[in-house]
Amino acid sequence: MKLRYLSTASVMAGFVIGSFSSFGCGGGGGSSSGGGGGGNGTGSRVTVSVSGARSQNVPVEIDPARSKINTPFSQDLAPGGPITLYASEGVADRQFQHWLLNGQVLSTQPTLQTTTPAGDFSLTAVYTPRACGPNGFTPNFAGELDPQDGQPNKLYWWHDFPIRVYFDETQSLVDRSVIEQIRAGFDTWHEATGVLGAYELTTDAASADITVRFTHQPEGNGVAFTDLVFFTGDNTLDKATITFIVPRISADAFTRVGAHEFGHALGLEGHSNVPADVMSIPSGLLPLTARDINTLASGYCAYYNRGRHAAPRPAAITEHRATGTAHISCPGSGITGD
Ligand SMILES: [Zn+2]
Repeated sequence: MKLRYLSTASVMAGFVIGSFSSFGCGGGGGSSSGGGGGGNGTGSRVTVSVSGARSQNVPVEIDPARSKINTPFSQDLAPGGPITLYASEGVADRQFQHWLLNGQVLSTQPTLQTTTPAGDFSLTAVYTPRACGPNGFTPNFAGELDPQDGQPNKLYWWHDFPIRVYFDETQSLVDRSVIEQIRAGFDTWHEATGVLGAYELTTDAASADITVRFTHQPEGNGVAFTDLVFFTGDNTLDKATITFIVPRISADAFTRVGAHEFGHALGLEGHSNVPADVMSIPSGLLPLTARDINTLASGYCAYYNRGRHAAPRPAAITEHRATGTAHISCPGSGITGD
């Protein structure tokens, strides 16, 4: 069995879990990998694996070695000595459920601290898909009211990434440096999630998923607004248009406003009540907060559970589906002279 040692230090909080004898819960699904070659007659040998994640190669940190090792792995231990395992609370789209000892539920906390039993044994970290709904990833503002209009926040999602983004420069209202600033704001979502918000630029307006346009025409006290077209059946997005009201955005605010509007274009209809959040009004400063990221991710529950490599959405089906629209106006943030 090949072991891979990673140098990353654990930053997880430690919870002290009771000893083996304290837990007698039966049942428990999941699998545990087979023996790792047997003990040496005097010691114990633990085999650590993960069940329910999309990949087996999930790192688990183990003490006393204090190393993060990709599962599955086996390690020799001294019977009666302390053993601590640190599993991640979440692995991509999955959340930690419980530890199994030889197939029996031992603990529901991702950090497991106990005493090494005699002989060979297995420990399995079981993961399950995150629950869909506003509490899929917390903390978030998915279930809050938009302070802009008092209406409940809503979540939509793109069926596939990368999406195609078209910058409409036909009127030459901004120069290249502004577009680069805006793109830096767009990029923050993919940088933060590693999954959501990947896009590629297109020069073909007709095939664009998201169109970015610029205007000098004010709309209320807004600095920008985003329009969404979505399919009402599953809340997937069909098109989005982001409009920047150029004279109302100060030169150093395009990245922040860009991140805010791209959040809408990725499916967040509504705003946060917490000023630090980039998706509040006026928008908070970058970087994106956990609430920003979790709210977007909550809208992508079906995307996560479906898997990231599903077949592209068939065009023939989408043409006959009912659509709805949303217009999201964003006051305040980055206003020149505000
Ligand atoms: Zn907004």
